[in-house]
Amino acid sequence: MNKIEHIGIAVKNLADSIAVYQRILNTDCYKTEFVATENVNTAFLKVGENKIELLEATSEDSPIAKFLVKKGEGIHHIAFAVDDILAEMERLKNEGFTLLNETPKKGADNKMICFVHPKEANGVLIELCQEIKWV
Ligand code: ZN
Repeated sequence: MNKIEHIGIAVKNLADSIAVYQRILNTDCYKTEFVATENVNTAFLKVGENKIELLEATSEDSPIAKFLVKKGEGIHHIAFAVDDILAEMERLKNEGFTLLNETPKKGADNKMICFVHPKEANGVLIELCQEIKWV
């Protein structure tokens, strides 16, 4: 694990929340992206070398829609940058953690991602993300 890549925040309304976080961080949102694999609209803001990812559900079966029903708005996950997502997935599985997807999937912001179940991580959903490099 290299560093915290971003913190994901579940929101009800992306446009409203972008406005809020632009005011808090005093910086403009630099990217919005629809992520088909998760049924979410995302928006990114930079804070130094870290990022805040705002997530809005685009359908009722989106993980974000379910999260909002259960917990309301708030921090949804912490994402860690990794160099080799397959190796980290294998390592965490061997350590007894439950992966929410068995193979990496395409996430927002040009990343391959995997989620680790919050049940073994003190209630925190953890995301592994590896930058997709085009060679
Ligand atoms: Zn994320």
